[in-house]
Amino acid sequence: MSLLTHDELDALRRQVSGRVLVAEDDGFDAARAVWNAMIDRRPVVIVRAAHVDDVAPTVAFARGRGLGLAIRGGGHNVAGNGSVDGGLVLDLGDLHDVTVDADTRTVRVAAGATLAHVDAATAPHGLAVPVGVVSGTGIAGLTLGGGVGWLTRAHGLTADNLLAAELVTADGERVTADATQHPDLFWALKGGGGNFGVVTSFTFRAHPLGPQVLGGNLFYGMDRWREAWAAVRAWTRGLPDAMTTVTTTLTPPPLLEAGDDPLLIVGFAWASPDRAAGEALAQELRRLAPPDAEEVGDVGWVTWQSAFDPVFPKGVRAYWRNTSFDDLSDDVVEVLVRRGEEQRWVGTGFDVHHMGGAFGAVPQHATPFPNRAAQFWLNIYGFWTDPADDAARIAFVRGMSEELAPFATGAQYVNFQGQEVAGHRNLDPRAVFGDQAYRRLVEVKRRYDPDNVFHVNTNIPPGDR
Ligand SMILES: Cc1cc2nc3c(=O)[nH]c(=O)nc-3n(C[C@H](O)[C@H](O)[C@H](O)COP(=O)(O)OP(=O)(O)OC[C@H]3O[C@@H](n4cnc5c(N)ncnc54)[C@H](O)[C@@H]3O)c2cc1C
Repeated sequence: MSLLTHDELDALRRQVSGRVLVAEDDGFDAARAVWNAMIDRRPVVIVRAAHVDDVAPTVAFARGRGLGLAIRGGGHNVAGNGSVDGGLVLDLGDLHDVTVDADTRTVRVAAGATLAHVDAATAPHGLAVPVGVVSGTGIAGLTLGGGVGWLTRAHGLTADNLLAAELVTADGERVTADATQHPDLFWALKGGGGNFGVVTSFTFRAHPLGPQVLGGNLFYGMDRWREAWAAVRAWTRGLPDAMTTVTTTLTPPPLLEAGDDPLLIVGFAWASPDRAAGEALAQELRRLAPPDAEEVGDVGWVTWQSAFDPVFPKGVRAYWRNTSFDDLSDDVVEVLVRRGEEQRWVGTGFDVHHMGGAFGAVPQHATPFPNRAAQFWLNIYGFWTDPADDAARIAFVRGMSEELAPFATGAQYVNFQGQEVAGHRNLDPRAVFGDQAYRRLVEVKRRYDPDNVFHVNTNIPPGDR
């Protein structure tokens, strides 16, 4: 069914305290927009929850009317899983309280919070939860898919730091999942996505950090890229866990005032109070490949965490792919250099995240997140504004991903995938999670959502074996 009667809408409005928007309402188009402008879905109704008590009646309403149900946190999901054509969007974005317990170093985060809310609340206590690198991203989608950022080597994924989650199940039951209560559900939430219920809050372990950290970027022009990649390969072999590095190739946006040619940028963050040791590591990288320019120094954590925001504005068109490698072999570097030189589209590019450290120390089966052994995860991201460019930009990202496939581990990070992999009409979740984790996820799915109410995600079909 696609349309609701006035009576049905009135009934919904009586049951929830938040706004209920349909196409005729002011603000409906703004409310249905997600970060990726390629995603232009038209839900029948949007509920902006104002209280956690709005969640259960909204889920029941969607079930009762046979409406597809999309759960939205920050709306950053590139595959568009924060919206649904002809269905109901439950948007939790107004629920963003963050409560920090500095004594126990735990942080309770309402599920509609963005990373900006989390960092702003923890930084004054000299604490940080490991989250992603762009502050408008939602904590919910990030955590439920994994969560990679500047503290991944120091403290693991966002999901690795999850201590508990409160959620509303498909039957409207409120449950707390942690290491002792619903432990299988708790396991599934640490990478298995939004398949199991509507999370209303997350509790995380926080770590002492800053408020200033040593961080920065080393810049290399195109003629220096092979040298820079060789340096990154050598440098990352012996790095302590406190050093996380991300190497990016992109054509810089004009605001960076860095010229029109693509750049290679080695970014790093040092998550240790031993500043001298971090500076010595940066010096080692400079010795291996002297940069053409650099910005390195002490920076406030909140500032660092939003430094990339202007490069990733809401409302661009985007298509991403992700893959992983055991090492930066000559074959891989050859493709990275050639593809980097080839594309001249502002904003489009790719990041290579150095993994290992605390991320790699988590046993493989402790979470559904794939391949903990992979040393490097590559995200290729196409950005553009003109719909006429859709085909060419998507082809570039796909082509590069396919060219790298022979050297890749096969593991993929669901949060960095475009629609056909991570969308709710996804191709093959077994390939995303790996056979063993996938079968366990199916078991959990069958127990908590046997009717697949939560299917607008990288879907785990409950009937699969
Ligand atoms: C500019 C940009 C930068 C990014 N940077 C990083 C990064 O540094 N590191 C990283 O790991 N990822 C990063 N990502 C990817 C990001 O983690 C995913 O896109 C993630 O899905 C975003 O979460 P969200 O809540 O904003 O998304 P939404 O679109 O709101 O939600 C995505 C999906 O998550 C699920 N979900 C959301 N809320 C809930 C809930 N309360 N309960 C149950 N399920 C829910 C649903 O399936 C939903 O469809 C980035 C994405 C963008 C666009």
